[in-house]
Amino acid sequence: MDRQQDFVLRTLEERDIRFVRLWFTDVLGFLKSVAIAPAELEGAFAEGIGFDGSAIEGFARVYESDMVARPDPSTFQVLPWETADGQHYSARMFCDITMPDGSPCWADPRHVLRRTLSRATESGFTCYVHPEIEFYLLKDLPDDGNEPVPADSGGYFDQASHNAAPHFRRHAIEALEDMGISVEFSHHEAAPGQQEIDLRYADALTMADNVMTFRYVVKEVAIKQQVRASFMPKPFTAHPGSGMHTHMSLFEGDRNAFYDSEDPYELSGTGKAFVAGLLRHAREITAVTNQWVNSYKRLVAGGEAPTAVCWGHANRSALVRVPMYSPGKASSRRVEIRSLDSACNPYLAYAVTLAAGLKGIQEGYELPPATEDDVWSLTESERRAAGYASLPQNLNEALGELESSELLAETLGEHVFDFFLRNKRAEWDAYRSHVTPYELRTLLPVL
Ligand code: GLU
Ligand code: MG
Ligand code: MG
Repeated sequence: MDRQQDFVLRTLEERDIRFVRLWFTDVLGFLKSVAIAPAELEGAFAEGIGFDGSAIEGFARVYESDMVARPDPSTFQVLPWETADGQHYSARMFCDITMPDGSPCWADPRHVLRRTLSRATESGFTCYVHPEIEFYLLKDLPDDGNEPVPADSGGYFDQASHNAAPHFRRHAIEALEDMGISVEFSHHEAAPGQQEIDLRYADALTMADNVMTFRYVVKEVAIKQQVRASFMPKPFTAHPGSGMHTHMSLFEGDRNAFYDSEDPYELSGTGKAFVAGLLRHAREITAVTNQWVNSYKRLVAGGEAPTAVCWGHANRSALVRVPMYSPGKASSRRVEIRSLDSACNPYLAYAVTLAAGLKGIQEGYELPPATEDDVWSLTESERRAAGYASLPQNLNEALGELESSELLAETLGEHVFDFFLRNKRAEWDAYRSHVTPYELRTLLPVL
């Protein structure tokens, strides 16, 4: 037994923990959990816990369904609230999923990210990320097709006292910090009920785990405050969507490989090639960074979400931004990718963005000039004339790009690639044949 496993077992005993939840994530980004008694944990460390993979979205075909969850002791955290008896706590660990012979399960999103990270490591890089996570607090989550009601009427940076869910962000942040997740900033976002919480940077695998924990914790804290949280990309027609802008940097040892004090954007050749990779492969990765039919309602002009494949410095309509908040500070030189939404699978989204950037570095892609115009105000043809590709406008278009992408087939691996295409095509088909309230409202009275 290694030191970390030993620490976990001792903590369980010292804190009298009654349940250990083993967490993992399905291909669509839903958190899965199996709770075990502490007495089972030594065995789980040695042999893992078997489960039926065919019952998990995207994991297995029925004839090869036995899979094993292997808890990663470095992710052990005590959950910040008591169990139902009010006396005990439970704990969680993320798992790596393997086949019964111990080989990694090709469907496990954590494995997809690990594989991409090991490519970065082969080139000498460690990848750090920090996400700005936006979401809505709502009075309820209606499932009858009606718009939800925001929990408050605040706006951007408002410090208003709200009657519903007072001090929600403070409670959520305390719970996150109790679980070892550091929060850097938080504020009310532009729309009623909309919140943003930004996590302090961490390596990409830790951060993907943190994002999964974040969604769970935020939803739980909301319920405790008699409201509900939603990470749906665009719940309101009239209000901006919820993005998960992601800041990324590559370090070589202690040195930020993106920093160059001589460059006007303080961006090194490596940083430029990384951004060039993101831009060149932007249309291919969008189905993963924006995976729901609803994701594309957010990627429209006006809501500060990107619509065109370009980069800039202060330009909030660009897909990639090189923020200059702390000029001269090498450690904080990073690039911000603005397409990701709050309902992506963070493991897969980090894997594909990193793979696109690394490809740019490997192939030495040339970075096109920065765009400081407001691309939202350009028409489609003006944009084309200026040489900016548009991001896919719907899931179908994005899937077409994904399907013909070698980079994505290689990054996701054959199984996840095929499953994802099949699953998402079915989502698109169900959606496109659905007659919407919009059509009924605008067409029925006049046709
Ligand atoms: N809500 C916007 C989006 O969907 C982002 C607003 C901001 O710049 O923080 O991307
Ligand atoms: Mg924001
Ligand atoms: Mg941002």
